[in-house]
Parts: sequence; C-alpha cells; structure tokens
Amino acid sequence: MKNTMMACNLHGIGDLRYEEVPMPKLEKDEVLLEIKAAGICGSDIPRVFEKGTYHFPTIPGHEFAGTIVQVNPGDESLIGKAAAVFPLIPCGKCEACQIGEYAQCHDYDYYGSRRDGAFAEYIAVKKWNLVFVPESVSLEHAAMCEPCAVAIHALSQVGIGLGDTVAIFGAGTIGLLAAQIAKGWGASQVVLADVDKAKLDFARELGFTHIIDSKTVDPAEYIKSITANRGADAALEAAGVSATVEACLKSVKTFGKVALMGNPAKNMDISQKAYWEILRKQLTLKGTWNSGYNDAHNDWRLAIKCMENGVFDLSKLITHRFSLAECGKAFDLARKREEFWVKIMFVNKEQQ
Ligand SMILES: [Zn+2]
Ligand SMILES: [Zn+2]
Repeated sequence: MKNTMMACNLHGIGDLRYEEVPMPKLEKDEVLLEIKAAGICGSDIPRVFEKGTYHFPTIPGHEFAGTIVQVNPGDESLIGKAAAVFPLIPCGKCEACQIGEYAQCHDYDYYGSRRDGAFAEYIAVKKWNLVFVPESVSLEHAAMCEPCAVAIHALSQVGIGLGDTVAIFGAGTIGLLAAQIAKGWGASQVVLADVDKAKLDFARELGFTHIIDSKTVDPAEYIKSITANRGADAALEAAGVSATVEACLKSVKTFGKVALMGNPAKNMDISQKAYWEILRKQLTLKGTWNSGYNDAHNDWRLAIKCMENGVFDLSKLITHRFSLAECGKAFDLARKREEFWVKIMFVNKEQQ
C-alpha cells in the first residue's frame, strides 16, 4: 500500500483542495475501502460553502461505495468484496442506540462531516457500517444507497398499500426515488408535483405520467380528479416549504397519511383552512429522519435489494460524473445550478 492518496480536503469554508494526504490507518474494527464512486449530497453544498465541517481539514463525502482492499488479520474473507457504507457511527450507549434506532443517536460520529469521508481514493470504515453489494448492482448505483434508503424510510412512515394513490411534493432526487419505490410497493398512481419545470420534465423522462406543475395546476384538485374525488391515500412532503405542506394536507383523503421530510428553509406557516384538514379528515402526520439501520429493520439492505430487483432505476439519475481532481468544477456546477443536475458523482476513473 502507498503512504499517501489523493483527496478533496476541506480546509475552511469554501476552501476545498485536491491534494495529497496520508493514507488512512486501519483501526482494529475497520477495513480499507477503495472508493469507486461518491455522490455529492444536497447537504454537501452548504457544508462546503456555508457551514463547514465540524473541524478542518476534513474530507467531505458520505454517499459512496467501493471495494475492500485491506483488512485486519482474521477478516481476509472480506478482501475484494463490494460495499456501500452507512455513514453514521452511533455511540452505542444512548437510549436510541439501546433500541437499535441508530439514526436517532445523541452522540454520533459521521463520515464526511465529523470525520473524514469519501471524496478520496480510500477510506477506512468500520465493518459494522458496511452494506454489501451484489455483483449485479454497479458501485455507482450503490453509492446512491443513502438517498434510496432515506426515500424508503420516508414512505415506510406512512406505509403504501396495493393500489394506493401516492402524491409526492418535490421532485428532487429523493422525491424521484420515493416515486419509484411507491410504484415498487404497489401504488397504482404516483403523482409528482413541483414548481421547477426542469425537474418536472426530467420526471416525465423517467416515465412518470402524473406530473403536476403546482404553479399552474392545483395538485389537490388534480388528485381529486384522478381518485373519484377521494384524494390521495398518502402524501410525501419533500420540499420543506409551507405551501407544499398545505398541498399535502389538502390532497390526501379522509384518514389519509402525510410524511413530512423536506428540510424547512424558514418558519413553516399553515393556514387555518389547511389546519382544519388535519382535524376534519383525522389525518396522520409523521415526521421522517434519515433511515433505519439495524438487523431487524435495515433500509440500506432493502435499498440494495430494490436496486437488484429493478425497483430503483438509477442510471438516468446520475447526470454528471467527475474525477476527484475536478472537485472545484463539480462543486461549482452543484452550487450555481445554472445547469440541470440530479446526482453529481465522483468516479474513480483510473480504477474502472
Ligand atoms: Zn446524503
Ligand atoms: Zn447513541
């Protein structure tokens, strides 16, 4: 093994440098992963340009997959295996950890924000965090395991029944993945609403048919028109704005269910009229956070299975590929939003 590797290292807010760094050293519960693909998450953009990581320098990147190339004695059988990585390292002691709800841990560590992440050639990761990837799933797709698991977790909060009508507000990456999983779970109609024409056009390209531009069409009225006036069985708020929360409340049927997922950009205000919908229709509102990762319920393993079975169609979602050396260009593209993108991915080209 070499002594150094190349990485995109964040030295300060807005100061991401492609540079040589020491090779990670293996702790006893870790393996060395050669990173083949690492996606830029929506959260990486403010992390790099506004908020920074918890300390500097830190290598960002928490959506990734690769191949195990080095292990500790006794773990030799893992060499050569492909894996995605659950990026959260729980404390193992708090109340949430005691019941296996690791995403709710009060004192966690995190690859790519609190400790070095995956915009690098290699990373040392804990064996506990490995999610093995079968040969039929590409590592670029496996690197999207996090948004897929988040989408699965979100819809699990409300539950999708066979033949349901599901409304998804916000056609970003996770909204699109949620739409795919809703279909996979047996929804008969999946409605995608957004105000961004480029996103709606892209959703159409992916094969969705109930596409609503909420600027020109009232989603609740549209959904009534395709459900014999009943409303949707379930709705997912994936935009984080008041108007879409209201649209969810208005769009679901009596006893309908709403999952709230979008990160709010500011205060959320609900009109009196929309609030009445919660009461009158006896709605269930459920928040969703991150994903489930334990032996009994594991959204990550489920996500890989859904990739294997074709429930997720990820090939079109990766709109841009860069090498690590092009990290400046990749983050500029992500930040400026002059060009349409869904998933921007660093691909270790030399290794392919
Ligand atoms: Zn992410
Ligand atoms: Zn904990």
